[in-house]
Amino acid sequence: MSSFDPSVFALDPAAAAVPTPAELLRRSLAGGRLAHAYLFLGDDAEVLTEAALALASQMNCEAPPERAENGRPLRSCGRCSTCRRIAQRSHPDVVWIRPQNKMRQIDVDQAREVIHQLSMKATEAPHKVAVFVGADRLNTAAANAFLKTLEEPPAGSIILLLSTEPDRLLETILSRCQRLNFGTGARLKLAPGVTAWLRDFARQAARPGAGLLPRYQLLSTLLVALAALREELETSLAAASPLEKYPDASPEQKERWEDELKAAVESEYRLRRGEYLIGLQAWLRDVWLASLGQPGDLANFPDFAADTTTVGQRRPPQEAAENLEIWERTQRLLFSNVQEGLALEVGLLKLRL
Ligand SMILES: [Zn+2]
Repeated sequence: MSSFDPSVFALDPAAAAVPTPAELLRRSLAGGRLAHAYLFLGDDAEVLTEAALALASQMNCEAPPERAENGRPLRSCGRCSTCRRIAQRSHPDVVWIRPQNKMRQIDVDQAREVIHQLSMKATEAPHKVAVFVGADRLNTAAANAFLKTLEEPPAGSIILLLSTEPDRLLETILSRCQRLNFGTGARLKLAPGVTAWLRDFARQAARPGAGLLPRYQLLSTLLVALAALREELETSLAAASPLEKYPDASPEQKERWEDELKAAVESEYRLRRGEYLIGLQAWLRDVWLASLGQPGDLANFPDFAADTTTVGQRRPPQEAAENLEIWERTQRLLFSNVQEGLALEVGLLKLRL
């Protein structure tokens, strides 16, 4: 199962309203198209928790009051023993993971414990659910320990990451989850440079004649921005490295520092590059909303909604939705260490703008 479920976005173009994230989840579950890992984003932690509870109950309820034609549950009853214990956080197959210790982090021991719990057969319910409350608090060691499970959870299990501060999440985590935004008030927090780049990108995309040449121009704005980012990081991190401070250090020591510097640049670059990729994803969502004729107040980028609307109205919603899928896939490819320039070129040229 891929972590991106395009069918969630494959809405009836005639549908008047954009379904809420909760509705999307209900439909996905009823249609048997649930992704194996979701990131629930939003301003309100309680809303995210409620959504996780609702999904876990719907998946496991003993007496669903409503079922789809295929027999899958559409709602939970809220009264059966399973529903009640899930609500009380005491069901053995629905595991809650919260930040602990003084640093308010989710640490590697907690991550290992979840991996272990997910690997065991569900004791009672049909599905195991792991809910990370405050997933942005996963520290790096915990995140790394958890990546493989996140990519391929044991059959029958699902992982829900809840976050009110998704910009703190590592790109490696983001690229493995399907994102659902629950807070209309939750605006993405992007670096000013990224937003400025997106504004420029939207303006160029809105120009008439979306042929191959304009799309190469869009690609080149991204490559230029990323090259500048890498250069900036190389300069600033080199300045902070002991290499400059201790010119008389032994060659072995210098070599170690050089390796450390290289690794630091690479990891910081990936993190910051993620902002561009996620920013573009968020803008493509705006384009999709515009293609559905939705009002701009749902948009991530209301400041340049006019250009976004121009782009969105050129394409049917189905194609605008496919853009989201294409860009999700591009981000996963980038994570898998495929050559960056090539992945970006293939992804960007496929977008229908
Ligand atoms: Zn129930």
